[in-house]
Formats: sequence, C-alpha cells, structure tokens
Amino acid sequence: MRNIAILTSGGDSPGMNMAIRAVVRSGFHYGFNVYGVYNGYKGLVKGEIKKMTRETVSRILNRGGTILGSARFEKFKELDYQKLAVKNLKEKNIEGLVVIGGDGTFRGALDLHNLGIKCICLPGTIDNDIPSTDYTIGFFTALNTAVDSIDKLRDTSFSHRRCSVVELMGRHCGDLTLYAGIAVGSEFIITPETGYDKKKTLAAVKDSYRRNKRHAVVVVTEHMVDVNQLAKDIESETGYETRATVLGHVQRGGTPSAFDRVLATEMAEYGVELLSRNIGGKVIGLRGLNMVDYDIEEALKMKKDISNKRYGLVGMLAQ
Ligand code: ATP
Repeated sequence: MRNIAILTSGGDSPGMNMAIRAVVRSGFHYGFNVYGVYNGYKGLVKGEIKKMTRETVSRILNRGGTILGSARFEKFKELDYQKLAVKNLKEKNIEGLVVIGGDGTFRGALDLHNLGIKCICLPGTIDNDIPSTDYTIGFFTALNTAVDSIDKLRDTSFSHRRCSVVELMGRHCGDLTLYAGIAVGSEFIITPETGYDKKKTLAAVKDSYRRNKRHAVVVVTEHMVDVNQLAKDIESETGYETRATVLGHVQRGGTPSAFDRVLATEMAEYGVELLSRNIGGKVIGLRGLNMVDYDIEEALKMKKDISNKRYGLVGMLAQ
C-alpha cells in the first residue's frame, strides 16, 4: 500500500483536525502518500480528493471543526454510490482510508471495506456514544465547554435566587449530561439512562429551596423533556424563579482540550500503523490507558456498558 486517504463525516467534533494532522504526519512516517477527502462521503462520491502536504495540516491542531469539512449524505447507504466512491479512490491508487466520525460513519466504512478498501475508523463525536471506546475524540472538550457555560449560569442564578434548567447534547447517550452534572454539582440529572421522573425532579429542586439554597441546576439530555415546560413546572411548584437554557451547537465548537489532542494523535497513529501492516476493517478505541482495535462489525454490535458508570453518584452528590 502506497496511498491512503482521510475523511471526516457525520457531526464534527473538536479534535478532528488534530486527528487529520496525525494521520498525515504519521502517514508520511510510514512512507505513504496521504490524500484528504473533502465533505465526507458526499465528497468521496464527487471525487473531492486532494493530496495533503505537511503544510496543509500545519497550524490546525488547536482549531475546532474539521478543515476537510463534513457532510451527512444518506445516499451513501446505496451500493451504486459506494461503487462510485471506490472508483474515485482506485483512480488515485488509494487502497487505505481513515474515517473519523460516529457509528453511521463506521457503517459507511464497513461497506467500503467489503468492496475492497482497507478502512480504519476513529471515533470522533462529542456524544461519547461509541461503545467500542471509553472516550471519543471531542467529548472532553464539549464537556469543558458545557461546564464553563453552566458555571456562568450558576453565577447569575445565585444572584437572583434562580433555578437553571440546562439542556445538553448527547443524542441517546447521557454521558455529556452526567459528567457535566457532576462537575457543576447539579441538583438533578436527567439522561436517557436515568429516565425522566417529573415527581423526583421537582422534589429534588423543592428540597434545595427548603434548605435555603440560592441556586439550583437541573441538567437534561436533549430529546428527554421539553425544558421550557419543565422550567415552568419547577417555577410553579418549588418557589424558584426558573429559566431554561439550551446550550446547543456551542458544545461542538472551540479549541480542542489537551486530552482530545493527545487522544486524537494516539488513535490516528495507531490506525495508520495498522494500515502500514496492510490491516484494515478496524475501529480504534481507548480502553483504560491502552489503544485497542476491533473489527468494524464487532464494534458496531457492542452495547455501551453503563454498569460501572457514575450514575450511582447522582443522588448522593446532589445533597
Ligand atoms: P454523529 O455521531 O455525529 O451522528 P455519525 O457518523 O453517526 O456521526 P451519521 O449522519 O449517522 O453520523 O453518518 C454519517 C454518514 O455516514 C452518513 O451521512 C452517510 O453518508 C454514512 N452512513 C451512515 N449510515 C450508513 C450505512 N448504513 N451505510 C453506508 N453509509 C452510511
């Protein structure tokens, strides 16, 4: 194998640029030519493929987003489009492809792998919803952003004796909410894993009010409840004036944290090293302190283990 390529796909996450940089630089180390594919699978099908140099990836390591762009492209589930992608890669003699994204991106890579392209998948998403790794590239940066924002809300809710209901991203995974909730000392945490119990939520906030606390914070994962309605319910039942805040896409941006930069670099180097040994069809993950790899199919079948998670702390820490 002489030529490899890299693309970013799905929702972007801070640290993707660091991963791109590390794929390019370690690619050179292993003697590859490295190509960048612009705009995810959509760009791959359209042939938006350019050779990368050391310069194309210089001064990007501290930038959020992805210099290659990302796209959602549902048509890539169809074989005809996948074959076009393979044709575009083969025209440039590209035999290996590193993709960075979430499970949808990995499914696309599995299809390409079955068509003869050696694919390596790196988990890049702020949601931390990939079971084959303890942490995804971008999670801790998004967590820091969320914690910073909620700290600011706490300052003002303290001044006015208010309750803040804060909605965080995460799709169907509560990690971002859970970790942020613990980090800010939230009164109540609502995630897909904990479920939503209105009575318990109101009781926890009421209890804070009774204990004369000047502020309260309830953190909620997106799609769980209507946060504006919850704020109204808290206000009418507890005594706290209450405001809802949806943090939204700010959680996706910003300078990647040192942890995400190191994680992205380690994962990228590990993946490129596999390609240098002609090994593809793998998802890279972090288990404890070690890099690991799984077959893509195996990784896609995994379920997230929440038995050892910090959910047990939730009730205790709220006191
Ligand atoms: P995020 O966690 O941010 O949602 P993701 O990678 O899961 O990231 P998706 O939009 O689900 O994001 O997938 C990204 C792209 O991967 C899709 O737009 C599509 O091009 C491709 N893709 C998704 N599912 C499949 C599939 N089953 N087969 C082939 N390609 C797929």
